Amino acid sequence: MNSSISTLMKKKGSSWWKTVLASRKQKQPGIGIDLGTTYSCVAVWQHGRVEIITNNLGNRTTPSWVAFTQTNRFIGEAAKNQASMNSTNTIFDVKRLIGRKFSDETVQDDMKHWPFKVIADPNDIIDANNPLIVVTYKDEEKLFTPEQISSMILAKMKEIAETYLGKEVKDAVVTVPAYFNDAQRLATKDAGVIAGLNVVRIINEPTAAAIAYGLDNELTDGYNNKVAKNILVFDLGGGTFDVSLVAVQKDLFEVKAVNGDTHLGGGDFDTRLVGYLVAEIERKHKKKLGDNPRALGRLRAACERAKRNLSSTTETSIEIDCLFDGNDFCSTITRARFEKLNLDLFEKCLEPVDKCLKDAQMRKADVHDIVLVGGSTRIPKVQELLQNYFEGKELCTRINPDEAVAYGAASHAAILAGVGDHKDTVLVDVTPLSLGLEVNEDAVMNIFIPRNTTIPTKISKTGYTSKDNQEAVQLSVYEGERLIAKDNNFLGKFLLYNLPPRPKGECKFDVCFNIDADGILTVSANLIGTNNKDEITITDHCGRLTKDEIDRMVKEGEIYKAQDEEFKRAIEAKTTLENYIEDVTMMVRRRRHMMSEDEKRLIEDAIKRTMGWIDWNYLCGDVSLFELKKAELRSVCDYVLGKKSRKTKVTELNNVD
Ligand code: ADP
Ligand code: MG
Repeated sequence: MNSSISTLMKKKGSSWWKTVLASRKQKQPGIGIDLGTTYSCVAVWQHGRVEIITNNLGNRTTPSWVAFTQTNRFIGEAAKNQASMNSTNTIFDVKRLIGRKFSDETVQDDMKHWPFKVIADPNDIIDANNPLIVVTYKDEEKLFTPEQISSMILAKMKEIAETYLGKEVKDAVVTVPAYFNDAQRLATKDAGVIAGLNVVRIINEPTAAAIAYGLDNELTDGYNNKVAKNILVFDLGGGTFDVSLVAVQKDLFEVKAVNGDTHLGGGDFDTRLVGYLVAEIERKHKKKLGDNPRALGRLRAACERAKRNLSSTTETSIEIDCLFDGNDFCSTITRARFEKLNLDLFEKCLEPVDKCLKDAQMRKADVHDIVLVGGSTRIPKVQELLQNYFEGKELCTRINPDEAVAYGAASHAAILAGVGDHKDTVLVDVTPLSLGLEVNEDAVMNIFIPRNTTIPTKISKTGYTSKDNQEAVQLSVYEGERLIAKDNNFLGKFLLYNLPPRPKGECKFDVCFNIDADGILTVSANLIGTNNKDEITITDHCGRLTKDEIDRMVKEGEIYKAQDEEFKRAIEAKTTLENYIEDVTMMVRRRRHMMSEDEKRLIEDAIKRTMGWIDWNYLCGDVSLFELKKAELRSVCDYVLGKKSRKTKVTELNNVD
C-alpha cells in the first residue's frame, strides 16, 4: 500500500477505504456517444450487452440540431421541426465547423448553403480566426462557438441517457471521424467538458463500428482458435465520409489505415437535389429563390425525405404548400435522376477506398468483409458501385448503419471501466495525418510521425542550431502530407530560447512528439548538452478555447439548461391553466340552469379575462404567473361554485355586488 493511502487510512479508518474500493468495483460504465454531423446516437452497456437508448420521442437517433427562438432553446427533433419557420436561428452541421478556422475553404464553402450566419470572431488574436455562430435568442443577438453548440447536443444525449438510467451520467466515450485532425478532436473534447461530461476517450467512428462488427461476428474457428479478419468500414453519413481498414481478431482491433473526405455525405446529395429544384422553380416562375431562407429550408427538408424514399422506391414526389409568394410546389423525382445528379459524388467515394487499401498494402481480395455504416450507405447506387469495385463481393449489412458507432463506443466505455465480456480487448488506432515540424522557417516539413502510425506513440529527434551564436530556435508544428510545411495545417509554434552562444550545429536539442490514446498531440522541446535544460510543451492550438473560456461556457450551459427547464415548467403550467379553464367552462355549461345571471357573468368574465391574459402572455415562461392566474380564476369559481350551499353563495354574491 502506498504511503498516501496508508495516511488516509490512519485519518479516516479502514472501513472508509473498503467503501471506496467497493464503490470502485461497482463502477457503472460510461455511455457511448456517436456525435454525428446530422444525427447523434447514445448507447450504454447494461445487463451484459449494449443498449441503444431512445430519446423522449422514442427515436434511436436524435438530429444534431439546435434552435433558438424568442422564448426558448430547442435541441433535436424539436429544433429540426421548427427549422423552416426560423431558419436563421436553427443551427445544424456544426460538426463541419468544429476545430476549423473561419477562413478554411470548406467553412467558406459551407456558409453559402447555410441559412444561419457565421462570422469570424472579432475579438480573436491575429492567428486564431475562429468562427462564431450568430443567432437571435430571446430578442438578443448571441454569439456561440461551435464547441458550445456541440456541447448542447452532447448535453441532450447525456440527458437522454440519464432519463433512461435514472441517474446522473458523467463518463462518456465520444466518437469522431477518423479524418478529424488534432484541433477538431480537442474541440470535441472541450465540447464534452462544457456539456458536463468527462470524456474518458475519443475514438474513431470506424473503429467503433469495427468493435460492433467484432461483437456480432464469430472470431474463433471450430477449435476456439482466434481468426483474424480484415474489414473495410465504409461510413458514409450526413457530412463526412470515412474509410478504414481494420484488422479484427477476438479482443484485438487494429486500425491499419484510414482515409476519407471531411466534406462528403448525405447533406451534399441533398444540396444537389435542392440546386436542381431551385433551378426548376426559377425557370418556371421567373423568381429568385436563393435569397428566401425559409423557402430553401423547407425545400431542403423535403429533398432529404425524397432522397430517403428513393432508397426503397424508384420514384417519389415532392409537394410543398405555399413555398414562396403563395405558390405551391410539386415535382416528381426518379431514382435515376437523383443518381445522375450525384453520380460524381458517389464515384468520389471510391477514391479513399483505393487509397486506404494502398496505405494498408492490401489487395481487394485481402478484405474479408465490407461493413456499411452511416445512413447514406442505404443508397442503392452507392452499394452497387462499392460492390462492383470489390468485384461483386457481398456487402455486410448485418449491423445497423445508424447505430453501429454508438454501439461500439458504449462497448468500449464498458471495456475502459473494466466491465463486460470483452474487458481484455485492445484497441489500436492510428494517426490520420502526418505530423511534423518546420524549424526556423526553413520551409520543409520534417515529419516526426508519419500518417497511419499506431497510437499512442512518442517519437523524439535531435535538432541542431543552423547559425553561429543562435539565441533561439523557432519550432512550428504542422499536420498534413505536403512537402512545404506552410502548405499543411498549422497547429502551433513555440520558441526554444536562451541557447548558449555556440558555433552553428553545436547546440543540440531534442524535440518529442507525443500522441495520447485520444489522438491528441503534445510537442515538447528540450535543450541538451548543457546544464541549462529547457522544456516547452504545447498542447493548445492557437484558436483553442482557453480554460477560462471553457469554464465560462460551462456556466452559461447550466444557465441555458435551467432556462429550458423553467420554460418547460411554464408550458406545463400554461397547459394546466388551459385545462382548468376548460373544466370550469364545462361545469358552468352543466350547471347553467342552477345559476343566476350574476353568477354566470361573474365566472364567464373571469374566464374571458384569463384567456385574454394567456393570449398576450403565453410565451412569458414564468411558472408563477400561470399559477397566479389559475389561483385568481379558482377563487372566483370557488366563490360561486364552492362547497357552501347555493343559497349562502347567492346571498354572498348579492352582498358583493
Ligand atoms: P452522420 O453520422 O454524419 O450524422 P448518419 O450516419 O446519421 O450521419 O446519416 C445521416 C445521413 O443519412 C443523412 O444525410 C440522411 O439523409 C441519410 N439517410 C438516412 N437514411 C437514408 C436512406 N434510407 N437513404 C438515403 N439516405 C439516408
Ligand atoms: Mg456517423
